[in-house]
Amino acid sequence: MAEIMAEEKKMNPYAGPLPKAAVETQPYWDGLRGHKLLLPRCRSCSRPHFYPRSFCPHCGARDLEWFQASGKGRLHTFVINHRPPPYLKDGPYVIAVVELEEGPRMMTNLVDAPADPGKIACDSPVEIVFDAVTPEVTLPRFRLVQEASR
Ligand SMILES: [Zn+2]
Repeated sequence: MAEIMAEEKKMNPYAGPLPKAAVETQPYWDGLRGHKLLLPRCRSCSRPHFYPRSFCPHCGARDLEWFQASGKGRLHTFVINHRPPPYLKDGPYVIAVVELEEGPRMMTNLVDAPADPGKIACDSPVEIVFDAVTPEVTLPRFRLVQEASR
């Protein structure tokens, strides 16, 4: 069994869970694969939301559209996980909630950042990093950016 898993890891170095797109989320995953962060927006009340679903969580309308978000936001909160799941080689790592410029918040990972709570500050500016973990799936991660470079 361990040999089979080692062989699988050689072929596909990403061994973590992969999303399975649904009708409501397919444009989101397609966008990420093309390095675009697409968010759903309500045509009735004009408010964006995340996660994608078949109706607006603000007003209940079902008339939605997709638009390209900036990929910029602020670190709303984070936690450092010192006990990574078995499929991750390295730990610790940073689990984060980012508040996008457009308003919605999304759970993600903070990458290229020290896993040190003394070196990460809430409300810091962040930007998206498109992490192509397989040829089909790109995951949205975020990194800290300097205020001046925004
Ligand atoms: Zn609405």
